[in-house]
Amino acid sequence: MTARGRLAAALAEAGEVRADEPMARHTTFGVGGPADLYVTVRGAEALARAARLAAGAGAGPFILGSGSNVVVADGGIRGCVIDNRARAERADGLRYRVESGASFAGFARRMCRAGAAGLAWAVGIPGTLGGAVVYNAGAYGGCLADVLTRVRLLDPAGGGEAGWRDAAELSLAYRGSAFTRGALAGLVALEAELALEAGDAAALLAEAGGYDRRRLAAQPRGRNAGSLFKNPPDAPAWKLIESVGLRGERRGDAAISERHANFFVNLGQARADDVRGLAEEAERRVFERHGVRLEREVGFVGAW
Ligand SMILES: Cc1cc2nc3c(=O)[nH]c(=O)nc-3n(C[C@H](O)[C@H](O)[C@H](O)COP(=O)(O)OP(=O)(O)OC[C@H]3O[C@@H](n4cnc5c(N)ncnc54)[C@H](O)[C@@H]3O)c2cc1C
Repeated sequence: MTARGRLAAALAEAGEVRADEPMARHTTFGVGGPADLYVTVRGAEALARAARLAAGAGAGPFILGSGSNVVVADGGIRGCVIDNRARAERADGLRYRVESGASFAGFARRMCRAGAAGLAWAVGIPGTLGGAVVYNAGAYGGCLADVLTRVRLLDPAGGGEAGWRDAAELSLAYRGSAFTRGALAGLVALEAELALEAGDAAALLAEAGGYDRRRLAAQPRGRNAGSLFKNPPDAPAWKLIESVGLRGERRGDAAISERHANFFVNLGQARADDVRGLAEEAERRVFERHGVRLEREVGFVGAW
């Protein structure tokens, strides 16, 4: 049996395993070549088990939430992708312990309905709670750091047990954290604890509805990964991109949205290389015209 076959057999104890799985099927942008191995796990302990096995075999892992903040290379991902569908949740009063594969928007909307305040701003953000931790997801003046108290982390390569870390140790900042900046790179968020406050369900749902309407009015439909770049301090990224004449620009089926120039969209059969080409063009032109270095919010991952 090959090393890949042995790992696939071991992973089958943790979840459903597929080989050469096209990542385009699992990202909101709809681009990306095959993952060597792709395992779907449905609980935090299965996630930990799969991550340890993959790391032990030198095969990653790459943890996939909802794939809403990544552009995966046309060459795909070498090693093992773990599709995280660990979604259990328990509550102690207004303190919630939630597995990291839970839908962040779904949880936020349920909390509004239940009269638990603190997450109304999050009802339209796609992705899992794990992805929200990594990027300190935020919108309309709120961000996860406002309500996150601690996260249960696993170092799959370290082989040890998972342990809780206070949110203060994660260096959560605007669309980033110690995960994106390196100090915690490679660690897996298994669960998170959030502290909410008592609120009024009707008022929270009305507030969430307002955010839904704002989002519908501002954002393009179709396949995309949200804002491609972080907003630099002095001007929003969309304005800078528009100012260099790139609104509506196309490469193959990849395009910069006519509606919002910081949204890059897949018009059908876009290739990841075309998305990257457009991103580099925007970076180059904005730097030449404004001296501003655009920083990517979306992760470009895999075998480029
Ligand atoms: C239409 C649209 C609108 C959006 N609007 C917003 C917005 O308003 N605000 C905002 O902040 N974001 C927004 N986003 C971006 C995206 O939804 C968030 O960044 C989200 O938190 C990503 O979660 P995910 O589960 O999809 O992560 P993925 O894209 O699956 O993964 C992102 C990164 O996190 C890592 N990761 C995921 N889970 C774990 C885990 N459990 N442990 C360790 N690492 C992990 C992955 O390995 C990867 O590197 C938007 C995206 C879209 C498509």
